[in-house]
Amino acid sequence: MSRSRKPDWLKTAPPSGERFTDIKRSLRERDLHTVCEEANCPNMGECWSGESGPGTATFMLMGDRCSRGCNFCDVETGGMEALDKEEPANVADAVADIGLDYVVLTSVDRDDLPDQGAGHFAETIREIKRRDSDILVECLIPDFRGEPDLVRKIIDAEPDVLAHNIETVDRLQWPVRDRRAGYEQSLSVLRQASRESDIFTKTSLMLGVGEYAHEVYQTLSDLRQVSTDIVTFGQYLQPSRSHLEVSEYVHPDVFDTWQRVAEEEFDFQYCASGPMVRSSYRAGELFVESQLA
Ligand code: SF4
Ligand code: SF4
Repeated sequence: MSRSRKPDWLKTAPPSGERFTDIKRSLRERDLHTVCEEANCPNMGECWSGESGPGTATFMLMGDRCSRGCNFCDVETGGMEALDKEEPANVADAVADIGLDYVVLTSVDRDDLPDQGAGHFAETIREIKRRDSDILVECLIPDFRGEPDLVRKIIDAEPDVLAHNIETVDRLQWPVRDRRAGYEQSLSVLRQASRESDIFTKTSLMLGVGEYAHEVYQTLSDLRQVSTDIVTFGQYLQPSRSHLEVSEYVHPDVFDTWQRVAEEEFDFQYCASGPMVRSSYRAGELFVESQLA
């Protein structure tokens, strides 16, 4: 498939529905922003409404500027601001008021802070659980440079799912990710969470950045070696001309194949895989379904 023109399978309908409109209004009233909206994610209709299970929305913590600069990511680099100490409570209030059953928390990387933001992240999880312990919390965390004490802070806050994205295969970590990230470092975060807790672990890969099938296969194997429970695959889309080029628009059949390989050959608890899938795609519904299976 040519990389100069987007294929039809990447076209999606705009989000709609009563639940979608209600959540959007509640967020505006609180002046809160989600990754879903900031990234204009095409899955908002499906994720927010949670047609057959808990709806999902993703909140970005600790600002909208990152201390790193990955070549696939549209978040601005540098110019870091002080943490908003009220943020953990504000996010928790919003989650409780809106009535979300499943929330994904993620953040920019904060290499500029002494604890890289691990304490702030953990506090947000605790605030949400304090208001309603039934709300399921998935946290998509940075690598914290692989520092076990910082990963431990997140484990101790007891999220339901601890996610950390490995993003791509070993060979392509750079140029895809910032040089401070790395394959082994990401595996070490997932390994620690699996070893030291019963929390479900999750990771995500983008396809279409130049990976070979045998490398994806090896990555699945390495992820299972460290007992990762859930994996997702989505198509990389270039945010602007200055970002990494798309190497290939991967056919939906290939995504289906990786889902089958992950679930049947490697025994992941579940795999969400498709061109428009993002790491938090219908996370609530799929997590609950997999628990009931
Ligand atoms: Fe984007 Fe995360 Fe990379 Fe920062 S660390 S540039 S937020 S992908
Ligand atoms: Fe939001 Fe993630 Fe769903 Fe996109 S995939 S709408 S970012 S929860």
